[in-house]
Formats: sequence, structure tokens, C-alpha cells
Amino acid sequence: MDCYNGSDTFYILVIRSTVLWEFGNNIFTSYLEYAVAAFSALYPWSRRANSVSTKPGEIHCKRNVLPEMAHHYHTVPDQLTGYRSTDPDRGTGHQSHSASPAVHHSLRHTGWCYQSQVTCNHTCTGPETWEVVSQHCGGRYQSPVNIVTRRMLPDERLTSFHLTGYQETFHGRLMNNGHTVQLDLPSNIRINGGNLPASYKGLQVHLHWGNAGGPGSEHTIDGEQFPMEMHIVHIKEEYDSIAQAGKDRTGVAVLGFFFQESASANKKFDPLINALKYIPQPTNSTELKGVSLDMFILPYNTMTKYFRYDGSLTTPNCAEAVVWSLFENAIPLSKKQLAAFSQLRFPNGQQMVRTYRPVQPLNGRQVYYSGGHAAAASIVLLITSVLVSSALCLHDTA
Ligand SMILES: [Zn+2]
Repeated sequence: MDCYNGSDTFYILVIRSTVLWEFGNNIFTSYLEYAVAAFSALYPWSRRANSVSTKPGEIHCKRNVLPEMAHHYHTVPDQLTGYRSTDPDRGTGHQSHSASPAVHHSLRHTGWCYQSQVTCNHTCTGPETWEVVSQHCGGRYQSPVNIVTRRMLPDERLTSFHLTGYQETFHGRLMNNGHTVQLDLPSNIRINGGNLPASYKGLQVHLHWGNAGGPGSEHTIDGEQFPMEMHIVHIKEEYDSIAQAGKDRTGVAVLGFFFQESASANKKFDPLINALKYIPQPTNSTELKGVSLDMFILPYNTMTKYFRYDGSLTTPNCAEAVVWSLFENAIPLSKKQLAAFSQLRFPNGQQMVRTYRPVQPLNGRQVYYSGGHAAAASIVLLITSVLVSSALCLHDTA
């Protein structure tokens, strides 16, 4: 295994390679690369937390700068350096493997995986080359993104959501699907309002997390990565599957929730977290009994503040079909609760950690903000809730 951790060796490699290159004929480009390497090394802040390639503990693979390969690298500078152009939306000098045809041919396709699963012998396809798995992943309107709060626009059409079935309890299948933990939803879950173009039905809930409570969200806010992010996936009522909905630019509506570490445990998450021990391996599943979506989301009166943009699924096939709604307030979980997700395993037996895609460029997209509105719909829901509870009590005592 030709591996190393961290990025310092990378710069040495870049400098060594550029010296080799200078014996060629493109001196100007070599100096430019010295400058880029020196700049990146001198400014640690340029390696922000949302740059997956610079996270501690992740494996990056050394280029084979063997003498017999030198000629090849001279003709393909992008592979020599491993640099992709700096992306202003990320605010990072993002090093990545070039997705050139030569690299694609060297991958052994055993399905897509997260960066935390990538090994040097390319046994799975990491986020930087997901476009090999599905061309949509290389599109211009991908998710997740970094939300820059000073650039978002308030939009008064972003009113409260109308949530149907969120308060009703159900028995749902909880499964380790090899990439995440997923809870399937009953057929009565609906959302509308919030300037969504249609009514959407709930399909499933899943999460993205870090390593033992470390950074793990997919979206970031002003560069900050939260320890976990939950996605409630809905599709337009007219569709039967996410594959069908993926062909419609607004076919999918995802409600995204951030998590933050709290000193005390969030008891509402205990049923889900306690069930994780029964599904350590991929394809393991268990039944969650007597849960409701209410238990896993924010109080309704804080759900008026959210971000909105058009993007994609964050896993292959990366269909650009998602109306994203990301709530500003974070759900509290204790460190121990957050760390419990790391007990799950990937198919190769490794711990299921850092299950997030790195942030993608906005490419001119605008992020909107609801700004917070009077919680009319929430009040209606609360009144309904009180009435339903009263009716149930009457029924029980009858
Ligand atoms: Zn997701």
C-alpha cells in the first residue's frame, strides 16, 4: 500500500515533481505550482473543515512518480499535481484526483463509497469520482453546498410547512443499507406549504455523521460543519419511486436538520439510537415501534427559519431534482448519542464514519432564507394535536 496520512508529504511531492517537470519545457507553469504549494502550506486556514481531502486520519494515495511513468505525467500535468482549480464557493484549495479518462480506467468498480472508505488500491469509487458511477454527479447543480449567510436572500414566500402525519405513531423498518441508517416511512406522511411547488409524500429518513461525534454534516453554514445531518426524503405524490421523481427537477423535497452536541441526552432519540446495536452490519434491519416523525424533528415554532435552494441527491445517482429546505436551528444530541452511530459498519467491516459528501460548488445558484414568519400553520397543527389527544383520552376512558 502506497499510502500516507495528511497533506505535508503532498507538497514535497508537488515540489519534487515540478523540479522534474522543469527539465521539460513549461517553466512558467512550474513556478505557478511552486507558488500555489507555498501559499497552501503557509495558510492553514485555507484548508477549512469542509475540505474532505485535508481531514486528519483520511488516507490519500501517493502518485506513482516512477521513472517509467515520468513521461506520462509530463503530458498530463493535472495527474502530476492532483490539483483541481480552486473553487470559490468552497473557499478551499481543493486537492483532488483528476477525473480524467485515464484515472477512470484504473478504478475497479465495486460501487460508490465515501471518502472514509477509499483505499489506495481503489476498491471503491469515492466522492471525487462519483461521476464514473453516474454522470449526474458531475453536474452543475449538485448538493450539498456551503451556505454563505451574508449572500443569501430573504424570501417572504418561504412560509411555514404544513406537515401531515408527522404526529402519528408508526412501526417502521430501520436498516443499515451499507451507506447509512435508514428508516422507512408509512404512506400517510405528507408535506406542503413553504413555497413547495406541489404536495410531497414521505419515503424515508436517513442520517449523515462524522467519527465518534466529530464533524459529519453534509451542508455547511459559513464553513461550519455540524456533527450530524438528518434528511427526511419526500417525493411528489404522483411518483412511485425516487428513481421516477429524480427525472423531475422538483420531483424530490428533502427536509434537512442539523444536529449539535449538547451536555444532556435527547431522550426522544433513544428508541432510534438504542436500535442501532441490532443492525451493525449492512442489510441488517430491525423494527422501530411506536415512533413518530415529531420525535426526531425540531419544535414546530422553530421550523419557520430555514434555507432554500435547488440541488441534487447527495449520493449517486446525484439526480438534480431536489428542492432543499435546511432548518437553521440544530437538534441537540449528547456526545455519546452522536458517537453511537459510529458503531455501525460498512460492507468491508470498517466503522461506518464520515458518511457525507464534500460540499459542491453553487455555480451561480441563489440560496434563500425564510427569515422567520408567524407560525400560523404550526399553531393549527398544535391545536389539532390537542384536539386529537383529547379525543384519544376520551376514547381511552370510555
Ligand atoms: Zn442524505
